[in-house]
Amino acid sequence: MTRKRLIAGNWKMHGSFAESRQLVAALRDGVGAEDRALMLLCPPYVYLNAVRDWLQGSNIALGAQDLSDRSGTGAFTGEVSGAMLRDLGCTHVIVGHSERRALYDESDAVVASKFKAAQQAGLIPVLCVGETLEQREAGHTQATVQRQVAAVIDAAGVAAFGKAVIAYEPVWAIGTGRTATPEQAEEVHALIRAMIAERDATIASGLPILYGGSVKGANARSLFAMKDIDGGLVGGASLVATEFLEIFRAGI
Ligand code: PEP
Repeated sequence: MTRKRLIAGNWKMHGSFAESRQLVAALRDGVGAEDRALMLLCPPYVYLNAVRDWLQGSNIALGAQDLSDRSGTGAFTGEVSGAMLRDLGCTHVIVGHSERRALYDESDAVVASKFKAAQQAGLIPVLCVGETLEQREAGHTQATVQRQVAAVIDAAGVAAFGKAVIAYEPVWAIGTGRTATPEQAEEVHALIRAMIAERDATIASGLPILYGGSVKGANARSLFAMKDIDGGLVGGASLVATEFLEIFRAGI
């Protein structure tokens, strides 16, 4: 099956209102009606509404970096629900980013709840998984990624992956300039796809699996050439229009 590439930008907690506007304008100029790839921008919550307006009429999609694990409404100060993100025009939401797991203690169970909350709201979750350097050096890469993916399969069922994206992001490659080689990444991507295929081959063959971790214009093409790599989740390089557009063009 040919899977459409997804090139997603995670802005994290970067940029001002004015900088965000400039970035969106430059990206809009560089993205036409592409069949082969979709560009997705995930700005901070507070800029979502403005970015939605700036993206009107473009082919660029909008996503969020996180969401509450609670559905509906309620007394959850500071939380943002999936329904609110849908309301603002988001189609996707990142869940389980390694920074959320490490800095905000998000367990596999919380990540699974967020994944389910996203789908209940009609959003496509971009589920991030990946091992730390210590886990890799101890030979625990496969076990770590399998545990993270299994937690969501157990909670949401394999059918839920018919409307989801997985991003393999080795923690040691995020923001470090140390990218996984295409072969290292492909090995884990193939493992993830096989895990899903064991349960449902059709869902596995349609599932987009992105690579994230120091993706740049210079290395994107060789990563995206691998059989099971369907695009990228890009942090730092997504804040520089020329660089992010080069990555996007590597995907089309
Ligand atoms: C990320 O934020 O998910 C990421 C992969 O960051 P970077 O591209 O900067 O490594």
